[in-house]
Amino acid sequence: MKSLVLEEKHKLSLRDFPIEREEAMGPRDVRVKLHTVGICGSDVHYFTHGQIGPFKVERPMILGHEASGTVIEVGSQVTALKVGDRVCMEPGIPDPNSRATRLGMYNIDPAVRFWATPPVHGILRPTVVHPEAFTFKLPDNVSFAQAAMVEPLAVGVHAATKAQVRPGDFAFVMGAGPIGLVTALAALAAGCARVFVSDIDDAKLEIAASLGPITPINVTKQDAAKVILAATDGWGVEIVFEAAGSPKAAATIFEPLCPGGRVVLIGGQSQPIAYDAGAAMVREARVENIFRYAHVFPRCVAMLSSGAIDVKPLITRTFAFDDSVRAFEIAASAPKGEVKMQIAMPQ
Ligand code: ZN
Repeated sequence: MKSLVLEEKHKLSLRDFPIEREEAMGPRDVRVKLHTVGICGSDVHYFTHGQIGPFKVERPMILGHEASGTVIEVGSQVTALKVGDRVCMEPGIPDPNSRATRLGMYNIDPAVRFWATPPVHGILRPTVVHPEAFTFKLPDNVSFAQAAMVEPLAVGVHAATKAQVRPGDFAFVMGAGPIGLVTALAALAAGCARVFVSDIDDAKLEIAASLGPITPINVTKQDAAKVILAATDGWGVEIVFEAAGSPKAAATIFEPLCPGGRVVLIGGQSQPIAYDAGAAMVREARVENIFRYAHVFPRCVAMLSSGAIDVKPLITRTFAFDDSVRAFEIAASAPKGEVKMQIAMPQ
């Protein structure tokens, strides 16, 4: 029964890990056998840098937080789930009594415990014990692979919600990585008439263009603001989503934005970034920030099931669990054309 363990920066191993024997089931918990786990940029960053902001890998930690699986045991007070249910899990568990949780913003509860964020272990392992309240049953027509995309999709849905998309809005998403593309999908599902997506990788932009009324912009060849202004009679887009996490991209967020537009900053920035307050002022731009999401998993599952959102084109490669060290090495090389890589756990 092996787990994928980040021993320290640059060092991964597949080995037995005692966590399963330590995890006790509470009355409102379920035990889930993992089926599919997505590789996230944050997992890769801990592997290559050993740290994200204040979170530092100081002892061996199991990676992975984008997951689906099957319920194999339920606590005595569990009512909504039963053994055999196919589920996906929300990876962050807040303190139910904290002030932020009571205010309805549990994602920014300083006490939230989030998988694969030190010192909390992730789920690239055979089983996990998780609260029923953060475990969501899957309809029959949502696969385990699609369900493991619910976690990143939740970020896009939260961003589109914060942007208050109105039917017929035009939006611009900077970055065609997994988060950029789920944001584009969420913006379209929320009612955008057209979404522009920029990146430096033509293969990713080709996937973007296949997802709906999306105009791809390769910023190594075209000026995004010029393309967008030309396509909108010089008006600009109602919403700009920054999902590249690039200070260079962020420095230009207001250029393609229409008067009265909204900007949502999604990409993590490791350093303070330039912010053109004058450009924001003359547009009366509203700037929003998001951090993960709060209770949008049920909406994401519902949209995958109804067909309002299709994440399948984003899953570009699947590895067997025995091959997961290699999968992380490939992910760390930032391969062209790969959007979401997933790991299939042994069943
Ligand atoms: Zn993730």
